Amino acid sequence: MSNISACRACSSSNLRVVWDLEKSPYGDLFQQDKSKATALPYHEMTLTLCCNCSLVQIVQETDLEEQYDQYLYNSTTTNGLGKFYTQTVSRLISDFSLEKDDLILDIGSNDGTFLINFKNKGFQVLGIEPAEMSSRIAKERGVNTLHSYFDSNSVTEILTNHKLPKLISINYTLANVPDVHAFLKLVYEIMDDNSILSIITGYHPDQFLVNMFDYIGHDHLSYFTIESIEFLCNSLNLRVLDVSRVEHKGGSVQILISKNTSMREVQPSVSQMLQRESWLGTRSEDFYSALRFRVENSISQVAQILESEDFNTLNGVGASISTTYFSNQFGIAQKLSGLYDDDRNKIGRFAPGSGTEVFPLGALPSGEKCLTIILAWQHTEKLLSRLRENRFAGRVLIPLPTPVLLEI
Ligand SMILES: [Zn+2]
Repeated sequence: MSNISACRACSSSNLRVVWDLEKSPYGDLFQQDKSKATALPYHEMTLTLCCNCSLVQIVQETDLEEQYDQYLYNSTTTNGLGKFYTQTVSRLISDFSLEKDDLILDIGSNDGTFLINFKNKGFQVLGIEPAEMSSRIAKERGVNTLHSYFDSNSVTEILTNHKLPKLISINYTLANVPDVHAFLKLVYEIMDDNSILSIITGYHPDQFLVNMFDYIGHDHLSYFTIESIEFLCNSLNLRVLDVSRVEHKGGSVQILISKNTSMREVQPSVSQMLQRESWLGTRSEDFYSALRFRVENSISQVAQILESEDFNTLNGVGASISTTYFSNQFGIAQKLSGLYDDDRNKIGRFAPGSGTEVFPLGALPSGEKCLTIILAWQHTEKLLSRLRENRFAGRVLIPLPTPVLLEI
Protein backbone atom coordinates (compact mmCIF):
# COMPACT_ATOMS: atom_id res chain seq x y z
CA MET A 1 0.00 0.00 0.00
CA SER A 2 1.42 3.36 -0.91
CA ASN A 3 1.16 6.62 1.01
CA ILE A 4 -0.05 10.04 -0.05
CA SER A 5 2.63 12.71 -0.20
CA ALA A 6 0.24 15.68 -0.21
CA CYS A 7 -2.85 16.72 1.74
CA ARG A 8 -6.16 15.30 0.47
CA ALA A 9 -7.80 18.73 0.73
CA CYS A 10 -5.20 21.40 -0.08
CA SER A 11 -2.30 19.49 -1.72
CA SER A 12 0.25 20.87 0.75
CA SER A 13 3.10 18.47 1.44
CA ASN A 14 3.48 19.88 4.95
CA LEU A 15 1.96 16.90 6.76
CA ARG A 16 3.08 16.18 10.30
CA VAL A 17 2.75 12.71 11.85
CA VAL A 18 0.71 12.88 15.07
CA TRP A 19 0.20 9.15 15.74
CA ASP A 20 1.56 5.97 14.23
CA LEU A 21 -1.08 3.39 15.18
CA GLU A 22 -0.69 -0.40 15.30
CA LYS A 23 -1.01 -2.27 12.03
CA SER A 24 -4.41 -3.79 11.34
CA PRO A 25 -6.33 -5.51 8.54
CA TYR A 26 -9.21 -3.50 7.06
CA GLY A 27 -11.65 -3.47 9.96
CA ASP A 28 -14.82 -4.63 8.24
CA LEU A 29 -13.49 -7.68 6.39
CA PHE A 30 -15.20 -10.35 8.52
CA GLN A 31 -14.85 -13.58 6.51
CA GLN A 32 -16.91 -16.73 6.10
CA ASP A 33 -13.74 -18.88 6.22
CA LYS A 34 -11.36 -18.68 9.16
CA SER A 35 -8.36 -19.29 6.89
CA LYS A 36 -9.33 -16.35 4.69
CA ALA A 37 -9.71 -14.13 7.79
CA THR A 38 -6.24 -15.01 9.10
CA ALA A 39 -4.65 -14.62 5.66
CA LEU A 40 -5.69 -10.96 5.33
CA PRO A 41 -2.80 -8.49 5.14
CA TYR A 42 -2.07 -6.05 7.95
CA HIS A 43 -1.73 -2.41 6.92
CA GLU A 44 -0.03 0.51 8.58
CA MET A 45 -2.09 3.42 9.83
CA THR A 46 -0.43 6.81 10.32
CA LEU A 47 -2.41 9.83 11.45
CA THR A 48 -1.12 13.19 10.25
CA LEU A 49 -2.07 16.85 10.58
CA CYS A 50 -1.84 19.19 7.58
CA CYS A 51 0.01 22.30 8.73
CA ASN A 52 -1.60 24.33 5.95
CA CYS A 53 -5.35 23.59 6.10
CA SER A 54 -5.47 21.65 9.42
CA LEU A 55 -7.07 18.53 7.92
CA VAL A 56 -6.26 15.40 9.94
CA GLN A 57 -5.83 12.37 7.72
CA ILE A 58 -4.22 8.96 7.51
CA VAL A 59 -1.47 8.86 4.91
CA GLN A 60 -2.15 5.33 3.68
CA GLU A 61 -3.93 4.96 0.36
CA THR A 62 -6.35 2.17 0.97
CA ASP A 63 -7.65 -0.23 -1.63
CA LEU A 64 -11.20 1.03 -2.14
CA GLU A 65 -12.41 -1.96 -4.15
CA GLU A 66 -11.20 -4.39 -1.52
CA GLN A 67 -12.87 -2.39 1.24
CA TYR A 68 -16.23 -1.55 -0.26
CA ASP A 69 -17.28 -4.19 -2.76
CA GLN A 70 -18.11 -6.58 0.03
CA TYR A 71 -18.69 -3.90 2.66
CA LEU A 72 -20.87 -5.36 5.41
CA TYR A 73 -21.85 -2.17 7.17
CA ASN A 74 -25.50 -1.21 6.79
CA SER A 75 -26.98 1.99 8.19
CA THR A 76 -29.91 0.10 9.66
CA THR A 77 -27.54 -1.83 11.97
CA THR A 78 -26.19 1.33 13.62
CA ASN A 79 -27.97 2.18 16.87
CA GLY A 80 -30.49 4.96 16.45
CA LEU A 81 -29.27 6.14 13.05
CA GLY A 82 -32.67 5.60 11.39
CA LYS A 83 -34.47 7.85 13.86
CA PHE A 84 -31.77 10.51 13.60
CA TYR A 85 -32.13 10.50 9.80
CA THR A 86 -35.92 10.81 10.06
CA GLN A 87 -35.55 13.90 12.27
CA THR A 88 -32.84 15.34 10.03
CA VAL A 89 -35.03 14.93 6.95
CA SER A 90 -37.99 16.71 8.59
CA ARG A 91 -35.74 19.60 9.57
CA LEU A 92 -34.16 19.90 6.12
CA ILE A 93 -37.61 19.93 4.47
CA SER A 94 -38.85 22.75 6.67
CA ASP A 95 -35.60 24.80 6.86
CA PHE A 96 -35.13 24.83 3.10
CA SER A 97 -38.78 24.61 1.99
CA LEU A 98 -38.09 21.46 -0.03
CA GLU A 99 -40.96 20.47 -2.33
CA LYS A 100 -42.08 17.15 -3.69
CA ASP A 101 -40.88 17.64 -7.25
CA ASP A 102 -37.38 18.51 -5.96
CA LEU A 103 -34.70 15.90 -6.51
CA ILE A 104 -32.89 14.69 -3.37
CA LEU A 105 -29.51 13.13 -4.07
CA ASP A 106 -27.68 11.05 -1.47
CA ILE A 107 -24.03 10.23 -2.19
CA GLY A 108 -22.91 7.06 -0.42
CA SER A 109 -26.56 6.20 0.15
CA ASN A 110 -25.85 2.80 1.76
CA ASP A 111 -29.06 0.77 2.17
CA GLY A 112 -31.33 3.79 1.56
CA THR A 113 -31.99 4.48 5.25
CA PHE A 114 -31.71 8.25 4.73
CA LEU A 115 -33.52 8.53 1.38
CA ILE A 116 -36.44 6.31 2.34
CA ASN A 117 -37.65 9.16 4.57
CA PHE A 118 -37.87 11.46 1.54
CA LYS A 119 -39.33 8.73 -0.65
CA ASN A 120 -42.10 8.05 1.89
CA LYS A 121 -43.02 11.73 1.75
CA GLY A 122 -43.30 11.63 -2.04
CA PHE A 123 -39.98 13.25 -3.03
CA GLN A 124 -37.93 12.25 -6.05
CA VAL A 125 -34.83 10.50 -4.75
CA LEU A 126 -31.58 9.18 -6.17
CA GLY A 127 -28.92 7.32 -4.21
CA ILE A 128 -25.37 6.59 -5.32
CA GLU A 129 -23.77 3.62 -3.60
CA PRO A 130 -20.69 1.55 -4.52
CA ALA A 131 -21.24 -1.42 -2.16
CA GLU A 132 -23.06 -4.23 -3.93
CA MET A 133 -25.08 -5.55 -0.98
CA SER A 134 -26.15 -2.12 0.32
CA SER A 135 -27.29 -0.87 -3.08
CA ARG A 136 -29.24 -4.09 -3.64
CA ILE A 137 -31.02 -3.70 -0.27
CA ALA A 138 -31.82 -0.05 -1.13
CA LYS A 139 -33.34 -1.07 -4.48
CA GLU A 140 -35.39 -3.79 -2.77
CA ARG A 141 -36.77 -1.08 -0.47
CA GLY A 142 -37.80 0.88 -3.55
CA VAL A 143 -35.10 3.56 -3.22
CA ASN A 144 -33.88 4.58 -6.68
CA THR A 145 -30.13 3.80 -6.50
CA LEU A 146 -27.21 3.96 -8.89
CA HIS A 147 -24.74 1.17 -8.03
CA SER A 148 -21.55 3.18 -8.57
CA TYR A 149 -18.91 5.38 -7.03
CA PHE A 150 -19.62 9.10 -7.24
CA ASP A 151 -17.37 10.09 -10.15
CA SER A 152 -17.46 12.02 -13.42
CA ASN A 153 -19.60 9.24 -14.98
CA SER A 154 -22.27 9.52 -12.32
CA VAL A 155 -22.19 13.32 -12.65
CA THR A 156 -22.77 12.95 -16.40
CA GLU A 157 -25.60 10.51 -15.69
CA ILE A 158 -27.25 13.04 -13.33
CA LEU A 159 -26.78 15.98 -15.71
CA THR A 160 -28.18 13.94 -18.64
CA ASN A 161 -31.08 12.08 -17.05
CA HIS A 162 -32.10 14.11 -14.02
CA LYS A 163 -32.65 17.69 -12.95
CA LEU A 164 -30.21 19.39 -10.59
CA PRO A 165 -30.78 18.19 -7.03
CA LYS A 166 -32.16 20.74 -4.57
CA LEU A 167 -30.54 18.86 -1.71
CA ILE A 168 -27.37 16.80 -1.88
CA SER A 169 -26.61 14.78 1.23
CA ILE A 170 -23.36 13.07 2.10
CA ASN A 171 -23.83 11.08 5.29
CA TYR A 172 -20.83 9.39 6.89
CA THR A 173 -19.10 9.14 3.52
CA LEU A 174 -16.88 12.20 3.07
CA ALA A 175 -14.27 10.83 5.50
CA ASN A 176 -13.93 7.77 3.24
CA VAL A 177 -13.18 9.72 0.05
CA PRO A 178 -9.55 9.55 -1.19
CA ASP A 179 -9.47 12.97 -2.89
CA VAL A 180 -11.91 15.24 -1.06
CA HIS A 181 -11.03 18.26 -3.17
CA ALA A 182 -11.76 16.52 -6.49
CA PHE A 183 -14.89 14.94 -4.98
CA LEU A 184 -16.43 18.24 -3.82
CA LYS A 185 -15.46 19.83 -7.12
CA LEU A 186 -17.68 17.22 -8.81
CA VAL A 187 -20.46 17.95 -6.32
CA TYR A 188 -20.16 21.65 -7.25
CA GLU A 189 -20.94 20.74 -10.88
CA ILE A 190 -24.41 19.53 -9.93
CA MET A 191 -25.25 22.53 -7.71
CA ASP A 192 -26.91 25.85 -8.53
CA ASP A 193 -27.48 28.85 -6.26
CA ASN A 194 -30.51 27.16 -4.67
CA SER A 195 -28.80 23.86 -3.93
CA ILE A 196 -27.98 22.85 -0.39
CA LEU A 197 -25.21 20.43 0.41
CA SER A 198 -25.65 18.67 3.75
CA ILE A 199 -22.65 16.77 5.10
CA ILE A 200 -22.89 14.59 8.19
CA THR A 201 -19.58 13.20 9.36
CA GLY A 202 -17.85 11.98 12.49
CA TYR A 203 -16.49 14.93 14.47
CA HIS A 204 -13.14 13.91 15.91
CA PRO A 205 -12.71 16.87 18.30
CA ASP A 206 -15.67 15.49 20.28
CA GLN A 207 -14.79 11.82 19.72
CA PHE A 208 -11.18 12.25 20.81
CA LEU A 209 -12.21 14.13 23.98
CA VAL A 210 -13.84 10.87 25.18
CA ASN A 211 -10.84 8.79 23.98
CA MET A 212 -12.76 7.37 21.03
CA PHE A 213 -9.63 6.69 19.01
CA ASP A 214 -11.15 3.59 17.37
CA TYR A 215 -13.05 5.75 14.88
CA ILE A 216 -9.60 5.99 13.26
CA GLY A 217 -9.48 3.26 10.63
CA HIS A 218 -8.56 2.61 7.03
CA ASP A 219 -12.15 3.42 6.03
CA HIS A 220 -11.84 6.95 7.44
CA LEU A 221 -9.14 8.70 5.50
CA SER A 222 -9.99 12.24 6.68
CA TYR A 223 -11.00 13.67 10.07
CA PHE A 224 -12.71 17.00 9.58
CA THR A 225 -12.95 20.07 11.73
CA ILE A 226 -15.13 23.03 10.76
CA GLU A 227 -11.88 24.91 10.18
CA SER A 228 -10.62 22.35 7.65
CA ILE A 229 -14.02 22.09 5.93
CA GLU A 230 -14.20 25.86 5.65
CA PHE A 231 -10.71 26.01 4.15
CA LEU A 232 -11.76 23.38 1.61
CA CYS A 233 -15.03 25.15 0.79
CA ASN A 234 -13.27 28.49 0.26
CA SER A 235 -11.01 26.89 -2.33
CA LEU A 236 -14.06 25.59 -4.22
CA ASN A 237 -16.30 28.69 -4.15
CA LEU A 238 -18.53 27.02 -1.60
CA ARG A 239 -19.64 28.53 1.71
CA VAL A 240 -20.38 26.94 5.09
CA LEU A 241 -23.82 28.24 6.16
CA ASP A 242 -24.58 26.41 9.36
CA VAL A 243 -23.13 23.71 11.58
CA SER A 244 -24.56 21.63 14.40
CA ARG A 245 -23.10 18.95 16.64
CA VAL A 246 -24.95 15.66 17.05
CA GLU A 247 -24.34 12.81 19.47
CA HIS A 248 -24.10 9.93 17.00
CA LYS A 249 -20.93 7.81 16.81
CA GLY A 250 -19.48 9.47 19.89
CA GLY A 251 -19.74 12.88 18.25
CA SER A 252 -20.75 13.92 14.76
CA VAL A 253 -21.42 17.16 12.98
CA GLN A 254 -23.85 18.31 10.32
CA ILE A 255 -22.50 20.98 7.99
CA LEU A 256 -24.77 22.88 5.58
CA ILE A 257 -23.10 24.37 2.54
CA SER A 258 -24.15 26.43 -0.49
CA LYS A 259 -22.39 27.97 -3.43
CA ASN A 260 -20.87 31.29 -2.38
CA THR A 261 -23.02 33.02 -5.01
CA SER A 262 -26.14 31.91 -3.10
CA MET A 263 -28.19 34.53 -1.23
CA ARG A 264 -28.46 32.36 1.88
CA GLU A 265 -27.15 33.77 5.16
CA VAL A 266 -24.28 32.36 7.20
CA GLN A 267 -25.48 31.45 10.70
CA PRO A 268 -23.63 32.42 13.94
CA SER A 269 -23.08 28.68 14.65
CA VAL A 270 -20.16 28.69 12.19
CA SER A 271 -18.03 31.24 14.04
CA GLN A 272 -19.07 29.73 17.39
CA MET A 273 -17.80 26.29 16.35
CA LEU A 274 -14.58 27.78 14.98
CA GLN A 275 -14.06 29.53 18.31
CA ARG A 276 -14.63 26.26 20.18
CA GLU A 277 -12.10 24.45 17.98
CA SER A 278 -9.59 27.15 18.73
CA TRP A 279 -10.21 26.70 22.49
CA LEU A 280 -9.76 22.94 22.11
CA GLY A 281 -6.56 23.42 20.11
CA THR A 282 -7.57 21.08 17.29
CA ARG A 283 -4.95 22.46 14.94
CA SER A 284 -2.14 21.81 17.38
CA GLU A 285 -0.22 18.52 17.49
CA ASP A 286 -0.68 18.53 21.28
CA PHE A 287 -4.39 17.77 20.90
CA TYR A 288 -3.50 14.44 19.23
CA SER A 289 -0.50 13.53 21.35
CA ALA A 290 -2.69 14.02 24.45
CA LEU A 291 -5.18 11.51 23.01
CA ARG A 292 -2.40 9.05 22.23
CA PHE A 293 -1.06 9.40 25.75
CA ARG A 294 -4.50 8.76 27.34
CA VAL A 295 -5.13 5.72 25.13
CA GLU A 296 -1.65 4.28 25.79
CA ASN A 297 -2.32 4.71 29.49
CA SER A 298 -5.56 2.73 29.17
CA ILE A 299 -3.77 0.04 27.16
CA SER A 300 -1.26 -0.54 29.94
CA GLN A 301 -3.99 -0.55 32.61
CA VAL A 302 -5.96 -3.15 30.62
CA ALA A 303 -2.79 -5.24 30.23
CA GLN A 304 -2.26 -5.10 34.02
CA ILE A 305 -5.84 -6.20 34.70
CA LEU A 306 -5.53 -9.12 32.25
CA GLU A 307 -2.27 -10.09 33.94
CA SER A 308 -3.67 -10.06 37.47
CA GLU A 309 -7.12 -11.63 36.86
CA ASP A 310 -7.59 -15.39 36.85
CA PHE A 311 -9.54 -16.65 33.78
CA ASN A 312 -9.46 -19.31 31.06
CA THR A 313 -11.29 -17.51 28.30
CA LEU A 314 -11.40 -13.86 27.29
CA ASN A 315 -14.58 -13.02 25.38
CA GLY A 316 -15.15 -9.80 23.45
CA VAL A 317 -18.47 -8.01 23.08
CA GLY A 318 -18.83 -6.31 19.70
CA ALA A 319 -17.87 -7.26 16.14
CA SER A 320 -17.51 -4.18 13.96
CA ILE A 321 -15.00 -2.07 12.11
CA SER A 322 -14.04 -0.20 15.26
CA THR A 323 -13.67 -3.37 17.38
CA THR A 324 -11.10 -4.66 14.87
CA TYR A 325 -9.02 -1.50 15.25
CA PHE A 326 -9.58 -1.45 19.00
CA SER A 327 -8.41 -5.07 19.47
CA ASN A 328 -5.28 -4.56 17.39
CA GLN A 329 -4.32 -1.31 19.09
CA PHE A 330 -4.86 -2.84 22.53
CA GLY A 331 -2.87 -5.94 21.52
CA ILE A 332 -5.67 -8.32 22.52
CA ALA A 333 -6.96 -9.46 19.09
CA GLN A 334 -5.14 -12.82 19.33
CA LYS A 335 -6.21 -13.41 22.96
CA LEU A 336 -9.98 -13.37 22.36
CA SER A 337 -11.76 -16.75 22.40
CA GLY A 338 -14.91 -15.42 20.77
CA LEU A 339 -16.71 -12.26 19.69
CA TYR A 340 -20.36 -11.70 20.63
CA ASP A 341 -22.69 -9.41 18.71
CA ASP A 342 -26.28 -9.30 17.48
CA ASP A 343 -25.39 -8.11 13.96
CA ARG A 344 -26.69 -10.92 11.74
CA ASN A 345 -24.20 -9.96 9.02
CA LYS A 346 -21.34 -10.83 11.35
CA ILE A 347 -22.57 -13.92 13.24
CA GLY A 348 -20.82 -17.07 12.01
CA ARG A 349 -18.06 -15.04 10.38
CA PHE A 350 -14.43 -14.67 11.47
CA ALA A 351 -12.72 -11.42 12.47
CA PRO A 352 -10.16 -10.04 10.02
CA GLY A 353 -6.60 -10.92 11.05
CA SER A 354 -7.24 -12.88 14.24
CA GLY A 355 -9.88 -15.19 12.76
CA THR A 356 -11.92 -15.05 16.00
CA GLU A 357 -15.45 -16.38 15.42
CA VAL A 358 -18.53 -14.19 15.94
CA PHE A 359 -21.44 -15.61 18.00
CA PRO A 360 -24.82 -14.13 19.00
CA LEU A 361 -24.69 -11.94 22.12
CA GLY A 362 -27.11 -14.32 23.86
CA ALA A 363 -24.44 -17.06 23.68
CA LEU A 364 -21.88 -15.09 25.73
CA PRO A 365 -20.50 -17.53 28.35
CA SER A 366 -20.99 -16.66 32.02
CA GLY A 367 -19.01 -18.06 34.90
CA GLU A 368 -15.96 -17.75 37.09
CA LYS A 369 -13.40 -18.78 34.51
CA CYS A 370 -14.54 -16.23 31.91
CA LEU A 371 -13.57 -12.62 31.56
CA THR A 372 -15.63 -10.42 29.23
CA ILE A 373 -14.29 -7.26 27.63
CA ILE A 374 -16.61 -4.70 26.05
CA LEU A 375 -14.87 -3.97 22.75
CA ALA A 376 -17.79 -1.81 21.58
CA TRP A 377 -17.27 0.34 24.66
CA GLN A 378 -19.06 3.31 23.02
CA HIS A 379 -22.28 1.36 23.68
CA THR A 380 -21.39 0.17 27.21
CA GLU A 381 -24.63 1.30 28.87
CA LYS A 382 -26.82 -0.41 26.31
CA LEU A 383 -24.68 -3.56 26.24
CA LEU A 384 -24.62 -3.92 30.03
CA SER A 385 -28.40 -3.78 30.18
CA ARG A 386 -28.57 -6.40 27.38
CA LEU A 387 -26.22 -8.65 29.38
CA ARG A 388 -28.38 -8.22 32.50
CA GLU A 389 -31.51 -9.07 30.47
CA ASN A 390 -29.73 -12.22 29.29
CA ARG A 391 -29.00 -13.08 32.96
CA PHE A 392 -25.29 -12.93 32.30
CA ALA A 393 -23.18 -13.12 35.45
CA GLY A 394 -19.46 -12.53 35.62
CA ARG A 395 -16.61 -10.07 35.37
CA VAL A 396 -16.85 -7.39 32.70
CA LEU A 397 -13.94 -5.18 31.72
CA ILE A 398 -14.83 -1.80 30.23
CA PRO A 399 -11.60 -0.56 28.62
CA LEU A 400 -12.42 3.07 27.78
CA PRO A 401 -12.74 6.03 28.36
CA THR A 402 -10.82 4.72 31.41
CA PRO A 403 -10.58 1.01 32.31
CA VAL A 404 -13.10 -0.33 34.87
CA LEU A 405 -13.62 -3.93 36.00
CA LEU A 406 -17.21 -4.74 37.03
CA GLU A 407 -18.86 -7.79 38.54
CA ILE A 408 -22.41 -8.15 37.24
ZN1 LIG B 1 -4.18 20.52 3.80
